[in-house]
Amino acid sequence: MEPYRIKAVEPLPMTTRAQRETALQRVHYNLFALRADEITIDLLTDSGTGALSAAQWAAGMAGDESYAGSRSFYRFQEVVRELTSYPHILPVHQGRAAERILFSTLLGPGGITLSNTHFDTTRANVELSGGQAVDLPCSQAQDLDSDEPFKGNIDLQRLKDALCGPDASRIAMVIMTLTNNGGGGQPVSMDNLARAAALCREHEVPLFLDAARFAENAWLVTRHEPAYQGVSPREVAEEAFRLADGCLMSAKKDGIVHIGGFLGLRDPALTERCRLLLVATEGFPTYGGLAGRDLDMIAQGLAEVTDPHYLRSRAEAARHLACLARNAGISILEPPGLHAIYLNAGRLLPHIAPHRFPGHALACQLYLEGGIRSVELGSLYLGKEDENGDPVTTAPFELLRLALPRRTYTLSHLNHVGEVLARTAKNRDKIPGYRLVRSSPVLRHFHSELEPLPL
Ligand SMILES: *Cc1c(COP(=O)(O)O)cnc(C)c1O
Repeated sequence: MEPYRIKAVEPLPMTTRAQRETALQRVHYNLFALRADEITIDLLTDSGTGALSAAQWAAGMAGDESYAGSRSFYRFQEVVRELTSYPHILPVHQGRAAERILFSTLLGPGGITLSNTHFDTTRANVELSGGQAVDLPCSQAQDLDSDEPFKGNIDLQRLKDALCGPDASRIAMVIMTLTNNGGGGQPVSMDNLARAAALCREHEVPLFLDAARFAENAWLVTRHEPAYQGVSPREVAEEAFRLADGCLMSAKKDGIVHIGGFLGLRDPALTERCRLLLVATEGFPTYGGLAGRDLDMIAQGLAEVTDPHYLRSRAEAARHLACLARNAGISILEPPGLHAIYLNAGRLLPHIAPHRFPGHALACQLYLEGGIRSVELGSLYLGKEDENGDPVTTAPFELLRLALPRRTYTLSHLNHVGEVLARTAKNRDKIPGYRLVRSSPVLRHFHSELEPLPL
């Protein structure tokens, strides 16, 4: 059960099927363009969509809105230092601001970043800084069905080869993403992280954590890595941060706040250079693009997020939804992580070719059937077409992500999702493919317009 009770409630928007059909036509079958009022259960993302605790609201009321030297900053700094061991903490308005500041400082033209998998904004900021982002996921990540516990790991052999290879002098940093969001929310083992850290030290390349889901990663380590059974998630998280030279953090995930983030650093000279950019583009270093109350809410959220009762119930909710999907006959990316369930839409809808977007087709159907919003991670997101709409590249897998906001939906909401999944799977032959009618050159899934094809 959820280890909390509900003190403030927000009504769910209830719609009829006819209203949803009209809404979907109006937005040209792009779920990003719906109004939130038209959605009953919003599983688009777990970013900034969590519910604050009473203690977080109270901390926010105690926030100090001084421009410089705010009390809130010193509380925030102390909490983050204690968790991470990094002496220098720069607050930013969200994770991608930390990325931009770090990469514009450390990456010159041609600079290379290596990662288990770069998150999409991380890759975009590396490329905007003139760098090149190289993903080195472990080979187990390719098998969606195996229940290997640490599919988020980096491929250590390929990391070693890169660090010794002809481009070694251009490698500016290694980034370990915990959990591996681009790789299906799969965790990284402490063994893998420690070995990656040792390689980085040996080759004098700095190691950074993209720590958006550090607590969820720590929970899965305590469950599945024999050496860490009986260790608390908080201790695992502290050890992970200690292995690195710094971190990029989106507090919208495991900070359980609506906005915020930070950059944690050990190197004082690097900190000085980052601070210059921080002041110029985010704000004075004691608020960095946030209100004082935000800093207090993050500090409190970071104290709550490693609570084993909270993490257990979050893991159980994800496993419950995974069971409902499997019982409906829908394969998922195994094993389920904590922040999302990924449905294998390609396997469920074999009559829809990749360039007819099976993941998107399933997303539209879940909305029509039950007012659920989800997001395609397949050929609409990753693929490309030529000007005639003929496929040039498709994605390796056609997935649909059901993200789980923190502390927001109850198990009975997930049961509703399960019922919708069951009805949808039963009538899968009647789900049409889609055709792009308008596309945009960058991030096309946000802006594109589509239409259903005749069955
Ligand atoms: C969300 C996320 C980011 C970017 O953070 P924002 O707060 O959305 O800017 C970076 N890396 C990972 C792994 C993320 O999940």
